[in-house]
Amino acid sequence: MINSGVYVLWLYLPQEERLRVGKLGVFSFPPGVYAYAGSAQRNLRQRLDRHRRLEKRLHWHIDFFRARAQFLGAAVFPGQPKEGECRCARQLSRFTGAYIPAPGLGASDCSCAGHLVYLPGLEPNSIALGHAVHDIELGTAEALTFFDAGD
Ligand SMILES: [Zn+2]
Repeated sequence: MINSGVYVLWLYLPQEERLRVGKLGVFSFPPGVYAYAGSAQRNLRQRLDRHRRLEKRLHWHIDFFRARAQFLGAAVFPGQPKEGECRCARQLSRFTGAYIPAPGLGASDCSCAGHLVYLPGLEPNSIALGHAVHDIELGTAEALTFFDAGD
């Protein structure tokens, strides 16, 4: 089994939050569905498990957001190289109404506006997220893995 690739985390913020994102600063996040594009060139499954877990030291930018958001699931593009992460973030930001609430989040080592994208109007359910994945042109996504809401 390929254990590397690009992934999209689906996260849901139940209410508006003002959050400090490490050294990046403080940002306002409206309630709703968010997508985060990342990649792991090894130990992809373990990376996704880490994103899912709440008990951990806050290390990456996304950890600060994840601490307040519900984990809805993840879509995986197996075998995609690290550059695919940026392509994915750009495609997500072209969704209707999408915008980047925290410029630079997840994009310390690339020139993207950010890798966490707010997707207004997207419902936090598997059907809506499944359709959204089909609009990401990045090879074939592996079956969405959904975890219990409220994790
Ligand atoms: Zn990027």
